[in-house]
Amino acid sequence: MKQLRAASILLSFFILAFQTNALAQAAPRRVIIDTDPGTDDVMAIVLALNSPEFEVEALTVVPGNVDSQQGLENALKIVSLAGRCDVVVARGAQHPLNQKLITAQFWHGKNGLANVELPPSKCKADPRFGPDLIIEMIHKYPHEITLIPVGPLTNIALAVSKDPSIATLVKDIVIMGGSISGGNVNGAAEANIYNDPEAAQIVFNAGWMVTMVGSDVGERTLITRKYLAELQSSHGPQSDFIAQIAEFYLNRSEKSGYSGAAMYDPLAVGIALDPTLGTFKEMHVDVETKGEFTRGETVANRMGSNENNVLHGDHYEIEGVIELKPNARVCLASDADRFLQLFVSRVRGK
Ligand code: CA
Repeated sequence: MKQLRAASILLSFFILAFQTNALAQAAPRRVIIDTDPGTDDVMAIVLALNSPEFEVEALTVVPGNVDSQQGLENALKIVSLAGRCDVVVARGAQHPLNQKLITAQFWHGKNGLANVELPPSKCKADPRFGPDLIIEMIHKYPHEITLIPVGPLTNIALAVSKDPSIATLVKDIVIMGGSISGGNVNGAAEANIYNDPEAAQIVFNAGWMVTMVGSDVGERTLITRKYLAELQSSHGPQSDFIAQIAEFYLNRSEKSGYSGAAMYDPLAVGIALDPTLGTFKEMHVDVETKGEFTRGETVANRMGSNENNVLHGDHYEIEGVIELKPNARVCLASDADRFLQLFVSRVRGK
């Protein structure tokens, strides 16, 4: 009996050792971050660049927080600061599909980077068009690329419209965008979706399962003074820059009455890194593209069905329901403290 127990303990030990080893040795996942950099974008990018689980293949730039030119400059300065000129940086669309661009210097500072002036970039932009680059990379590495769009969905919509096959060839798509409980632009809409609702509707209905990390969850995942102090306690070029950004962002948020700054974009990267940081429910999500008060709202169906109303003479009658196929894994909540600890541990001192 004793021998059996010893053998069983030994076996458990080997299994654990094998699993730990497999995890450590798992090849990094290839990711493309589509971004409108942006203070929280920068935090997301630096988190991804300093996470061994990821191989950041490219940053594609979309207009949003800043225009396309400023966004490209910011993205290049960030990879340069991180000493990562190997990361492809490419410009994408110049404007949303069907409306004028709305920029957000009000929240992100004049240059989108909290008015912090980084040294000029040593890295050069790739000449390819962002959406084409996304298509090319997904075909080069089928079922390996995780797309992480953290800006308006213009580039992703252009890519998947031009080549719908990418929807089945990506490994995953994790977006920062939308909300199932009110917006951050107005009562209904979240900024990334509001900035290009037509693009967002294309992306949600492209045939892939979108992991949606919305503003409502980001707003419950706050970087606070405590975490800022931890960041500030250790130095490095990226770490010091992120601390400056976080302080600007925190000051801005506190003035608006929040106890910390919403980690919108970094949380999407965090969820892509470790899905156990979130809880999810599969739903069908559509994007309101009309609506007097609701343009840009992500309309999430929690029941998985719509009533089927059939015309009977002068009125309709409900005749059962029409089932809806889920197209989104909607993040409902995050383990905020564990995420913030991960963020600080990855960025601090870098
Ligand atoms: Ca963003």
